[in-house]
Amino acid sequence: MNEHGTAASSLFPTYARFPVTLVKGEGSWLWDDQGNKYLDFMCGLAVTNLGHAPEQVKQALVRQLDELWHVSNLFHIPNQEVAARLLTEHSCADAVFFCNSGAEANEAAIKLARRYHQQVLKNGRHEIITFSQSFHGRTLATLTATGQDKVKEGFQPLPPGFKTVPLHDEAALEAAISEHTAAILIETVQAEGGVNLVEPAFMHRVAKLCKEHGLLLIVDEIQTGMGRTGKLFSYEHYGIEPDIFTLAKGLGSGFPVGAMLAKAPLREAFGPGSHGSTFGGTPLATAVVKATIETMISEAVVDQAADAGQYLLARLRDQLADNPFVKEIRGLGLIVGIACDGAVGDLVTAARDRGLLVVTAGPQVIRLLPNLLVSRSEIDQAVDILVGLLAEQTVTTRGSNA
Ligand SMILES: *Cc1c(COP(=O)(O)O)cnc(C)c1O
Repeated sequence: MNEHGTAASSLFPTYARFPVTLVKGEGSWLWDDQGNKYLDFMCGLAVTNLGHAPEQVKQALVRQLDELWHVSNLFHIPNQEVAARLLTEHSCADAVFFCNSGAEANEAAIKLARRYHQQVLKNGRHEIITFSQSFHGRTLATLTATGQDKVKEGFQPLPPGFKTVPLHDEAALEAAISEHTAAILIETVQAEGGVNLVEPAFMHRVAKLCKEHGLLLIVDEIQTGMGRTGKLFSYEHYGIEPDIFTLAKGLGSGFPVGAMLAKAPLREAFGPGSHGSTFGGTPLATAVVKATIETMISEAVVDQAADAGQYLLARLRDQLADNPFVKEIRGLGLIVGIACDGAVGDLVTAARDRGLLVVTAGPQVIRLLPNLLVSRSEIDQAVDILVGLLAEQTVTTRGSNA
């Protein structure tokens, strides 16, 4: 066994882990067990939106640890009521179901959509339309919904009732709608799929088709929600209102929790006994959700994220304008992709060696996901490291072509 525990690990090798062991985090910074310091521009994959160990959230968790950790959802859980009220007051939704992860939130959304059509409208519809390059999770239903073959390999047979069409292809979308269609499930920014922004005109078409055909519009806000894009929920950028949307990642500032939210007419489809989760919305998890949302609102975190995102995009566009290896810089708020003309895996490794943590989004896109309170000086430091690396990349690429 080596010092990172990879050779003789007792874990399934589901993750190709980096050779780094992080042991402490504070704000935008992480430290490894060798004492090296890293600027965190991945945030546990868009999870630690308030930075590491945010004080207000930590205090709420510690207070709750002294009181009560877990009770069954057969009892009233005041934190859950308050957290749900905060979410509905600040969104288009009227009802919240708490769960423990993003995949579970999307499972709940898929189940609610089917049950609403089948039990409330009594029309038997069940099919969900999704888009290529999307990512919706790793459970059987959510990997089937995901528009990427690599997550489906070896898991046949997949559950029926899902259709995937190319993003931005209105004709294919219309052709996919039938009397069986229950809902359209979409991300506003395909995060795992390459930081692909959905064009407003297409999103409006999706919303319109849902209205015309009596379909439910489900927006997967698991990565884009909780302020990440410079709005509390990314659908706000489009002036649309989903019937259902899902949250996880940033919802608990690092504490595992997810949620499925829906408009009032859908409430009755999830009556007693229809759906559930032992750990969904425990007093601990919902103390954290409550403190996370309260912090976001009291400190205008979402506006700060919007400003920081504009600054980051502008800096990258300015500094990388003449770099031939960079094809496009795109983003919404603080989810930013640098699309390159080749594989970026080595660049991500090189960035880590220089003290900057970033992640890929597909093989050719570097994805930046700093926390929402990131400072301009931290952005400058990250941009300097990336610009330096991409300049060297250009030199080596030219060298190898010669
Ligand atoms: C991460 C993610 C999921 C899955 O969330 P898990 O908590 O890993 O189950 C689903 N959809 C999107 C858009 C995501 O980014």
